[in-house]
Amino acid sequence: MSHHVVILGGSYGGIAAMRRLSKYPELKITLIDQHPYHFLQTEGYELISSNTSFEETIVSLPSLCANFENVTFQHRTVDSINPQKKVILLPDGNCTYDTLIIALGSVTKRFKCDTTVYNYSSGAKSLRGALRLNQFFQDELYKRLESAKQAKENFNIIIGGAGLSGVEIAAGMQHFFNRYYRTNTLSCATLHIHLIASRETVLNGMHPHIIKIATKRLKKLRVKVHTQSRIASIDKHEAVLTNESKIPFDFMIFAGGTTSTPCLETFNVEKNKKGQIVVDKYLRSKTYDNIYVIGDAAAFINKRGKPLPPTAQTAIQSGEIAANNLIRSLHNKPLKQANMHIKGIAIALGGKYAAIDLGFIHFHGYPAYLVKKLIERLYKWPLWWLASKGFTKINSCEI
Ligand SMILES: Cc1cc2nc3c(=O)[nH]c(=O)nc-3n(C[C@H](O)[C@H](O)[C@H](O)COP(=O)(O)OP(=O)(O)OC[C@H]3O[C@@H](n4cnc5c(N)ncnc54)[C@H](O)[C@@H]3O)c2cc1C
Repeated sequence: MSHHVVILGGSYGGIAAMRRLSKYPELKITLIDQHPYHFLQTEGYELISSNTSFEETIVSLPSLCANFENVTFQHRTVDSINPQKKVILLPDGNCTYDTLIIALGSVTKRFKCDTTVYNYSSGAKSLRGALRLNQFFQDELYKRLESAKQAKENFNIIIGGAGLSGVEIAAGMQHFFNRYYRTNTLSCATLHIHLIASRETVLNGMHPHIIKIATKRLKKLRVKVHTQSRIASIDKHEAVLTNESKIPFDFMIFAGGTTSTPCLETFNVEKNKKGQIVVDKYLRSKTYDNIYVIGDAAAFINKRGKPLPPTAQTAIQSGEIAANNLIRSLHNKPLKQANMHIKGIAIALGGKYAAIDLGFIHFHGYPAYLVKKLIERLYKWPLWWLASKGFTKINSCEI
């Protein structure tokens, strides 16, 4: 009887594991995701700032999976996991497994406050969230174009959190607004993006050179950066920072932190403060050796014992490592220790401008933008090619 591997989450981590495992016909693989597409979060900033259309930021999961004889895709939402019974609980039935790979990512952490504020906030980690943000801004800009009076009114956006995603969104949106206002000969003096950084700088923890470049670029774009402050409280239209300054806002985006996806809340294993599952050196849950955890859902540490930031590249690496270890365990071979590391960071800084940190070399501007685009395409194009092959296969079967 074939060994049943269930992968929860069809994004960077889940797809990497699925592709590696699909090479072993003795395995039966089920990939489950709440969406029938893989959203390319790393291109979300382009969608928010209207530099790309939404179909450029997705890969169809049914079409992708159709390429592999031993892979089945299920478009379903996971309710919870029962590890004792080796069962995934789904709203419309259950799914059993022999080995489980959890690749459920993380969700934007919501600010603890009056729930009415949520009408004025949104996260950028989902296609829905990114589209909502984009449509909201398009709408606001349209109103300003129509009405000279409205164009003169202040419009404030707060972005809480100045890590990679907060900085990319702030720079992308401000660049978009500046360009839009210039093209339509409107004054953008009344539009402000406030980026709130809890530490002394944006991109805390990154290379000082990259921090310097990003800070300079944000200033040039006229993003208002508030350092060493956090949002202390918010009501419907005003945020109070810990340094007591008050910022009125029309829209707020939280990019200040993530937490585990709700269906993992009842999964009773060791987790860190961010709700990420603590894994052993082979990427298995410390309690269940038939459960691997990869991507943003897992708490990784590097060789020096330091926590690794959640990124698409660590999600892909961990997916491949977990899949290799799963195969090794089935072939009774010793498992290999995961050596997770960040190869480099590419940060989009609005328009055709980016900064790249490869450890031994840093560069920025248009060349860095071209390299970032190349990295994105080298990831997306093979998946699109496979999805288009899978789509043809599905359709030829239906005729
Ligand atoms: C704006 C932005 C920019 C970024 N830029 C970069 C960058 O330049 N470089 C980089 O390396 N990283 C970047 N990141 C981080 C990167 O996108 C994440 O680290 C990466 O997406 C993690 O991949 P993952 O596979 O672990 O999880 P995710 O990509 O979060 O995917 C989780 C999957 O699980 C599914 N899922 C969740 N809950 C359920 C459920 N209950 N039932 C069924 N399915 C479920 C989701 O639908 C999703 O498909 C960026 C993130 C953001 C938000």
